[in-house]
Amino acid sequence: MVTRADIGVIGGSGFYSLLDDAEEVELATPYGPPSDVVTVGRIGSRSVAFIPRHGRDHRFPPHRIPYRANLWALRSLGVRQVLAPSAVGSLRAEYGPGAIVVPDQLVDRTSGRPQTYYDIDGAVHVSFADPYCPSGRATAVATARAGDWATVDGGTLVVIEGPRFSTRAESQWFASNGWSIVGMTGFPEAILARELALCYTSVSLVTDHDAGVEAGQGVTHDEVLEFFAQNVTRMRTLISETVQSLPEERTCPCGSALDGIKLPFELP
Ligand SMILES: [Zn+2]
Repeated sequence: MVTRADIGVIGGSGFYSLLDDAEEVELATPYGPPSDVVTVGRIGSRSVAFIPRHGRDHRFPPHRIPYRANLWALRSLGVRQVLAPSAVGSLRAEYGPGAIVVPDQLVDRTSGRPQTYYDIDGAVHVSFADPYCPSGRATAVATARAGDWATVDGGTLVVIEGPRFSTRAESQWFASNGWSIVGMTGFPEAILARELALCYTSVSLVTDHDAGVEAGQGVTHDEVLEFFAQNVTRMRTLISETVQSLPEERTCPCGSALDGIKLPFELP
């Protein structure tokens, strides 16, 4: 394979225009095809592979996204660092629409999604105490702050199964645990990246307050889409600048996630 990339971006379809000299690559994986053809190109001096998380035509709802195929496809192209922009609801009154949260913790409230590559020929237990890449996080936080975003360094992302939004009681329960934001796609994406020894950084744009945070009817799908559309250009700039600021050589622990573990098959 000649087409290679160092950095992967999994995000909304608004990110296509990020890439210069873009080329489309159709990839098969042992887990089926990824969400769509992978677009490989350049941002500045960095080589980048982009996958539209929900497919170009948005055909995959959060619980149907081929997460394993997406991360596998990125790794097979040479990707070792992944940025994952997404839209989230806020569980805190002080993080309003337009804030960027770069979480450092995750709570999995999904169910029934395949969440490991290692489900045959013995167990592989990777550490997931700190689910995100520290250097990717630091880069994203510094870039967002420099870009004048209201930026939150750290916090806990709760990933719900969806596709429905939270009830008011669920939302209040999440908030009362001290958790920060709610989304539907951050898991199993993060653990699958870790299982492939990839760096993974969530860059979460708050689009609304979750149901229990404020009075009213709670969030609607149209509101989320409209807010995200208004912020696409700004988000694109943020991701583009973050990509260009990521370290060339990894010094974080992510690449050693599988050291000393006997794998049942070779990674791509
Ligand atoms: Zn890392």
